[in-house]
Amino acid sequence: MNPEASTPALPSWLTWWQRPFPDANTLLLHGRQPALVDTGFVGHADETAAWAHAHAGHVDLVVNTHWHSDHVGGNALLQARGAAIAAGTPEAEAITRRDPGCCAAEYLDQPVAPYEVDIPLDDGRILRLGDADWEVVHTPGHTPGHLALWQPEERLLVVGDALSDYDVGWVALALDGPDAATTALASLQRMADLAPRVILPSHGPIPADPPAAFAAALRRAQRLVDDPAGAVWYGARRILAFALMIRDGIPADEIEPYLHARAWLNDAAHQLDIPPETLATELVTTMLRSGAVLLRNGRIHATAAHTPVPPETLSTPYPRTWPAPAPH
Ligand SMILES: [Zn+2]
Repeated sequence: MNPEASTPALPSWLTWWQRPFPDANTLLLHGRQPALVDTGFVGHADETAAWAHAHAGHVDLVVNTHWHSDHVGGNALLQARGAAIAAGTPEAEAITRRDPGCCAAEYLDQPVAPYEVDIPLDDGRILRLGDADWEVVHTPGHTPGHLALWQPEERLLVVGDALSDYDVGWVALALDGPDAATTALASLQRMADLAPRVILPSHGPIPADPPAAFAAALRRAQRLVDDPAGAVWYGARRILAFALMIRDGIPADEIEPYLHARAWLNDAAHQLDIPPETLATELVTTMLRSGAVLLRNGRIHATAAHTPVPPETLSTPYPRTWPAPAPH
């Protein structure tokens, strides 16, 4: 890490909103076609839309880096107010056919309000966001449809969950196949080769030193390739921490039954070749020991900074019961 490095300057036509969990960072591109990249968690959709309205007046286009709940939660509200939604083609097609796997919402037990994708995006597509042209860079790994966005004049790269200043995106080996970590590593290398001046991640701050951020992310991604069991544990810790954040913790005597009922936990146990009950116990125990979660007033809470979510938003139905897309 270069000790002289500081946060790189951003162009005036870009507004960056660094948000704690459970919201992904949100990016607003100003100009004749105001565009928003990612829309936060469903429990904060009003706040997301109000922020965009205050800064841009109107949003023409929403682009999703991928369909996880912390990136698409404001889509429905912004779409109702006239924004078009753009997302990677595999995700767009699944959303259109109301595939029960959409957004991994049911799999991860993370609610998403129903939306439609108007513009499917493939690698190499040029998108006008605000007044600048951005290139879509397909960067599968964290999800198969994951996208980065590249602005070559300013050398800005929106990286979604592929990496952050402190982390690399978790991979779902059970859902996406044993090669998901290798795929993520290749995507990271492709992004690093663009040599961006500014990396705009979906979580945490803007990295002060992009080459150092890529070097660290490539090392971490290589570890996920070399140690599939470690990759499964890493994903499980991230998914459980998120579940605790959106529920304001889970009662200590309910957390293991909660975990036993989760598809992701059962898949992870299968990958690790241990009983789900063993994984659930060890997951909670190791996260208590590391300080990632803590016991307070009988509930297990995540310790990472996060914003409370109105509990009623957690009852948003899963995609398998979403209404069919409206005819266009
Ligand atoms: Zn994600």
